[in-house]
Amino acid sequence: MPDTAAMPIPGQIDPVPTSRPITPRADGRIDVLGIPREAIRDLFAEAGLDAKQAKLRAKQVYHWLYHRGATEFAAMTDISKAMRPWLEERFVIGRPEVVEAQHSTDGTRKWLLKTADGHEFEMVFIPDADRGTLCVSSQVGCTLNCTFCHTGTMRLVRNLTPGEIVGQVMLARDTLGEWPKGKMDVSDDADENEYRADGRLLTNIVMMGMGEPLYNFDNVRDALRLVMDGEGLALSKRRITLSTSGVVPAMARCGEEIGVNLAVSLHAVSKEVRDEIVPINRKYGLEELLKACADYPGASNARRITFEYVMLKDKNDSDEDAHELVRLLREYDLPAKVNLIPFNPWPGSVYECSTPERIRSFSNIVFEGGISAPVRTPRGRDIDAACGQLKTAAEKKSRAQMDREAAEAEATAA
Ligand code: SAH
Ligand code: SF4
Repeated sequence: MPDTAAMPIPGQIDPVPTSRPITPRADGRIDVLGIPREAIRDLFAEAGLDAKQAKLRAKQVYHWLYHRGATEFAAMTDISKAMRPWLEERFVIGRPEVVEAQHSTDGTRKWLLKTADGHEFEMVFIPDADRGTLCVSSQVGCTLNCTFCHTGTMRLVRNLTPGEIVGQVMLARDTLGEWPKGKMDVSDDADENEYRADGRLLTNIVMMGMGEPLYNFDNVRDALRLVMDGEGLALSKRRITLSTSGVVPAMARCGEEIGVNLAVSLHAVSKEVRDEIVPINRKYGLEELLKACADYPGASNARRITFEYVMLKDKNDSDEDAHELVRLLREYDLPAKVNLIPFNPWPGSVYECSTPERIRSFSNIVFEGGISAPVRTPRGRDIDAACGQLKTAAEKKSRAQMDREAAEAEATAA
């Protein structure tokens, strides 16, 4: 079981257990997934290889991991037969364990996953005609408590490691059969095109699963670097979007050090309403947030910032709210698009979704203000895979168990 040490998370008052990125497993082996290539080289050197060998083996292993999807050293045919067991004794190639996989009638898939130390989290794949989007989790639970979000009712268990984050993308590629097939000998790189798969299903990544990615900044950055690395998973940063509830101090770093598209969970245009439904607003207010958006490195009319806005009946969905939204986005001169998300209810949620007419009216006002405001179609509702519905089965069960116990106690008292 990985050693978990109490480390403070920024913005979080109480220290929470966070697993360290490079921690040997119970059998002493180190998981190389999620470790940058130079660090793999250093690990190989520490384990006894000379500098030249360590560099060569790290290059080969890295290629097998991220280009070929290898899950064992035995498959790495350009590494000498004697070397493969040496690696196997000291290192492993991890994947999150799949506890349950569900398939929605609309094609959406959801996986309940488990870390090596037994924490459950979720990942969702959403296929569309022109793209396939993987919704990746950054934390088990969330420290924030947005009142409309099911994940927000979980306490934060811990940050996911870079390996657990990039491992979700690897696992999705495993399941979708997206590793290059055919020739397994990569000694001659001129042959690369022969096994490179075209027309992949998984084309986009959104950091919109469980957790607040900017409260797990370093691990999310390191994982996304592996995803974006041309020698790694080689997915363009333009196809990756990170969603934040508004962790203002980390936003500039996100643009500078990761450089992916930014989505901001705005959801309200007044202090009063945003303080209530997105409580981080009490710490970093609207003005500060919109200023940070205006300063986001890389934002331009070609790369607009997405503002997510969940439609809650009688809470944030009036025509006045829509006008105020347009005014604010203009005031800060933001290259913006607005994503209107119909509220997805979950057991015990206190809100209702706005009516379709209300959503249409809101959308029209924003659109007339010169800002695109599509309404997002909820996907995978039948398997609880839609936005904000992610909460692990174990947690749901314990909640159901609690409800049953409460009902029993009430019956006894009566
Ligand atoms: N923590 C990050 C990313 C995960 S949430 C964030 O808050 O941005 C991904 C998106 O789903 C956010 O915009 C979130 O506000 C939205 N969401 C949460 N609960 C929802 C619900 N019940 N219905 C619709 N959208 C929801
Ligand atoms: Fe956390 Fe995002 Fe849910 Fe808010 S909406 S509780 S930040 S996961």
